Amino acid sequence: MNINDLNTGVENTWCPGCGNFGLLTAFKQAVVELVDEGFKLKDFVMVSGIGCHAKIVDYVKLNSFYSLHGRTLSPATGIKLANPDLKVVAFAGDGDALGEGIAHTIFAAKRNSDITLVLHDNRIYGLTTGQFTPTSPKGFKGRSTPQGSVEEPLNAVELMLASGATFVARGFTGNILQLKELFKQAIKHNGFSFVDVLQPCFTFYNTLAVYQKDCYDLLDKNHDVTDFDDAMRFAREWNYEDGKKIPTGIFYDVEKPSFEEQELKGKNLKDEKVASVSDFLKSRM
Ligand code: SF4
Repeated sequence: MNINDLNTGVENTWCPGCGNFGLLTAFKQAVVELVDEGFKLKDFVMVSGIGCHAKIVDYVKLNSFYSLHGRTLSPATGIKLANPDLKVVAFAGDGDALGEGIAHTIFAAKRNSDITLVLHDNRIYGLTTGQFTPTSPKGFKGRSTPQGSVEEPLNAVELMLASGATFVARGFTGNILQLKELFKQAIKHNGFSFVDVLQPCFTFYNTLAVYQKDCYDLLDKNHDVTDFDDAMRFAREWNYEDGKKIPTGIFYDVEKPSFEEQELKGKNLKDEKVASVSDFLKSRM
């Protein structure tokens, strides 16, 4: 199997130069290598929200569910609960996962649901042509903030660490090899895994040159990925400010029982005679 076997033939409508192309290549290559390692293609499920990012489900020949804005993690959680054998990968934009959907994002991490969240962090609403998002920098001038945003950005990595995510990483679409490895490790991780992907929006907020200059790999720092305080220290090293070094790689990686392991105790709903996840959970009360 090679990366082209995952093509769908659907016309790609991302803008030329969009960082999403690098993310797409890294994800497809990760899937190819995971299949080589024994994972089954039929066990992958992609779930998206709404936004430029969401088109990714059209471009990869895998099972997928196109959900609502800010609601990526709700169906992802349900799919995983209904069949814990599946590898569920949720894709969301920064406006999607950290704006309207922030409660779902925090609680999926808090539960340690065994799903992966890939954040297409372009720090702008691209599909709606350039409004500021929760990760836009203070002073950002866009369609909805012509005088400059007065708000501080949310630090996505710090937020996920504080919320209980057991795997937290950051990659950059200009470093596809590193990003592919992060995706593989996130998908293999048992529990909630989060990958913040710095994905320049070529049309409305082109941050490519900044990331090329400032990103560095945590592997060069001999960082202990099981040390929460150290992970937080590196997370706080950069909060979307210009002129600072940007850590990438794995911040945190620890094993804890997942939500599904604790709730389902080895059962699989596809083998149970129940009509829905809620029926199943009620039957256990
Ligand atoms: Fe990519 Fe930005 Fe174009 Fe959307 S608007 S496809 S994020 S370059």
